[in-house]
Amino acid sequence: MRQPELLIPAGNMEKLRTALLYGADAVYIGVPGLSLRASSAELSLNDLAAGVSEAHGKGVRVYTAINTFARNTDLALVRQTLPALIDAGVDALIVSDPGLIRLVRQIAPSVSLHLSTQANTTNIEAVRFWQDQGVRRIILARELTLKEIGEIAAAAPGMELEIFVHGAMCVSYSGRCYLSAWRNRKSANEGDCTHPCRWEYVLHESTRPDEPLILEEDEQFSYLLSSKDLCLIEHLPDVLATGVSSLKVEGRMKSPYYVAVVTRIYRQALNAFMHEKEKYKCDPQWIEELKKISHRGYTTGFAFAEEKIQETSPQIKNIQTHEPAGIVLICDKAQKRLLIEVRNHLEAGERLEMLLPEGGIVLTDADMTDHEGNRLQQANSGNRIYLHGDIETPAGTMIRKMIS
Ligand code: SF4
Repeated sequence: MRQPELLIPAGNMEKLRTALLYGADAVYIGVPGLSLRASSAELSLNDLAAGVSEAHGKGVRVYTAINTFARNTDLALVRQTLPALIDAGVDALIVSDPGLIRLVRQIAPSVSLHLSTQANTTNIEAVRFWQDQGVRRIILARELTLKEIGEIAAAAPGMELEIFVHGAMCVSYSGRCYLSAWRNRKSANEGDCTHPCRWEYVLHESTRPDEPLILEEDEQFSYLLSSKDLCLIEHLPDVLATGVSSLKVEGRMKSPYYVAVVTRIYRQALNAFMHEKEKYKCDPQWIEELKKISHRGYTTGFAFAEEKIQETSPQIKNIQTHEPAGIVLICDKAQKRLLIEVRNHLEAGERLEMLLPEGGIVLTDADMTDHEGNRLQQANSGNRIYLHGDIETPAGTMIRKMIS
């Protein structure tokens, strides 16, 4: 079996570096105006060139999403932006619009094309069609079962296949939804989804108009249209048996903490599987770790059953046991201290957990000082402080704490 690729979202430079540090094989990013995520999840063209260079320096591939369904007025921007993407050295473009595929073929015929999940590829004939168009990889529709994915992989050995293994699910078919554009003038197709599916609604049955059914929302969201999040970590052998080449994590809008935890755990699981397939077992610790990031309960989605959306519920809610505390900027071995940037309010003596990229989790309640060595009783988000202790870990290491 070929080593499958672990593909991680990298919405900005910090997330890209976090993905590199914690073991991504490849990252996917957006560029302004052309991807399906809002601007907070996009890199400027200047950052893109630097990010590609850093990633390639570590042997990591970079795919750039231009997976919007373009209007006529978008085409000029695509024509203008494409040469810069190619110059930056991206390894592939993620596209969904046939018009953009045609444009890319004209402007940059040699660049690899990955067909976005937005294109809803659900069967082998569709795969062959895209193969004829020169597409190198297809990100299959999320609605397929593992059985269907395996059948497609067996019938199209020349096509690279990518599937989602972790992250938020959208209750619309492959994300095609007009709700946000209609309710909020912010289009999901342009990467601007405001998640109105999770708001509060009232249903009136025509025969009982005075008995409205209220779709309640708590401080997080309503539940009827809000799916649990996908998590296939427990089923990695079944996933890999399908023959797919790339395992994708959803979440370009998510935090660097999410990127660190998910990358670290899926990296460990993939390494364990590739090391000793026969003896592989899902480590319960991996699941516990994935429960420490924000999620809405986990589901296997459509992996084992067609048409299976699992709504989250008030009992499950948006669960998150830990939050980021800081990120290591410099490890000063000589003085046995770490310069960190604080990401949430910290109190002296609070128990912190360092997620070592290649190792376990180090617990510390180390002293905090400012740059002049004065002890601190507390620190706030954005502060740069020293944590004292003989801990050796690279810049970019994520530090977290329990949510009190
Ligand atoms: S509003 Fe909800 S269902 Fe529609 S695209 Fe956004 S997340 Fe998906």
